[in-house]
Amino acid sequence: MQLVLATRNANKLEEIRDVLGLNPHTVKSSFDYPQIPDVVEDKDTLEGNAIKKATTIAAATGCWALADDSGLEVDALAGAPGVYSARYAGEHCSYLDNCNKLLFEMEGKTNRRARFRTVLALVNLVGEVRTLEGAMEGTILTEMRGEGGFGYDPVFMPEGYDLSYAEFDPAEKNRISHRGKALHAAIEQWGALFAQI
Ligand code: IMP
Repeated sequence: MQLVLATRNANKLEEIRDVLGLNPHTVKSSFDYPQIPDVVEDKDTLEGNAIKKATTIAAATGCWALADDSGLEVDALAGAPGVYSARYAGEHCSYLDNCNKLLFEMEGKTNRRARFRTVLALVNLVGEVRTLEGAMEGTILTEMRGEGGFGYDPVFMPEGYDLSYAEFDPAEKNRISHRGKALHAAIEQWGALFAQI
């Protein structure tokens, strides 16, 4: 059984590999298949996008595929940026552009409650889909803090901590984060499948 991690996001890939602890020689990623075009994330749910990415990569490679789709839901912004988190500040925006737009939209807001959600989708050789989810509650900071991580990490403070995600040690972020929780659930529920890799 060969598994492909269906992403070209190097940060995500590192987090997924670190938590799952799968053999890097047998577990490939979308980077190993440059001929496969980027999957267009045009569904209106995280689950829809995760399934689309995993299904497309499984079909194109003839391998099992695992995909992650994540989003930041901010209560004061009616759940935005949510499924549109990657392109919140525009089609080809940077992580910094997205953080700045979020801080701007949140100026003066007293309700700063938010959550990160990750949906994982695992697809096998005959296209059967399994999904599961991880979430982390938290708040949006009033300014960026920390140098680590990626995406919205500098502006998100997980509940129960006085650090932004970007101030966490990477292993600690993986232990408590939305993606970490989803991946730990994957080990519990899909461990027997991963053991065949
Ligand atoms: P995607 O659609 O799952 O690739 O992710 C959407 C966007 O959410 C990414 O471009 C990042 O900006 C952001 N994102 C996803 N996961 C994280 C995370 O763990 N920390 C901070 N930002 C994240």
